[in-house]
Amino acid sequence: MNIKDVLNKNNFVFKKKYGQNFLTDNNILNNIINFADIKEDTLVIEIGVGGAALTQKLSKKAKNVLGYEIDVSLKEPLSKILCNDKNVTIIYDDFLKRNINEDLKKFKYGNLMVVANLPYYITTPIITKFIDENVNVDKIIVMVQNEVADRFSALPGSKSYNSLTVFLNYYFNIKKVFNVSRNVFYPKPNVDSAVVMLERKKEKVKVDDEQLFFSIVKQAFCFKRKTLKNNLKNYDLEKIDKIMKTFNKNINYRAENITIEEFAIISNELTK
Ligand code: SAM
Repeated sequence: MNIKDVLNKNNFVFKKKYGQNFLTDNNILNNIINFADIKEDTLVIEIGVGGAALTQKLSKKAKNVLGYEIDVSLKEPLSKILCNDKNVTIIYDDFLKRNINEDLKKFKYGNLMVVANLPYYITTPIITKFIDENVNVDKIIVMVQNEVADRFSALPGSKSYNSLTVFLNYYFNIKKVFNVSRNVFYPKPNVDSAVVMLERKKEKVKVDDEQLFFSIVKQAFCFKRKTLKNNLKNYDLEKIDKIMKTFNKNINYRAENITIEEFAIISNELTK
């Protein structure tokens, strides 16, 4: 069934406020599916079903697909488009308002993945929700804005490395998989995109006090051009300088040059 025809017949109107830029390129869709390497016993969560171009392909590989879609005007067309995909369940609601673990209780599965072309206006809240709600997800493969993909996967010393990079890389190994041109979406967005993969770390960096660790990281990046000496004034700077000298750095370094492991050492030593 042609998605465009069904949407047209139902007088569907694209809504900018929901980040509705639907993926139209079959090759890109196939590349995402091939990269995801979905196993038979997998439950896939998709945030933002849209016209279900990706959903239909996910449905062929996964045991079940749990999709979320905020736009209720898609209910009617999606019931037609997905009439043969019996393993797809769609919850018509704002994903950010859901209790994910509660929604997952209805399913039995071997492993859990997220595969989605995200609504870009809420990319970070969507990903941090999986952390905050302690959802046992193995892999997150998502299309995001290109600059966001760079930030997520940035290495220390690079322009894009910031507190969000450290926060996400504490939980996940993150890799930018491939770039995607704005020309393969309808309507065409103003930005280019990329697919990123976040793989849950089997072993996290050892942090004794996560709250302290994250607040140090956040403050260290507060004024990007400033050094730790200026950004971490609320902490024992003399002690921090001493700790940093053990890895041949000092408080005149900027946060962008500090690795996650080094932030962990600083915060662990400060708890002593
Ligand atoms: N998956 C489709 C595709 O690849 O063509 C659509 C992707 S489109 C970039 C994002 C989708 O997310 C839209 O269908 C939009 O309505 C939906 N969406 C936006 N905000 C949402 C939210 N808070 N919860 C659930 N879905 C949302």
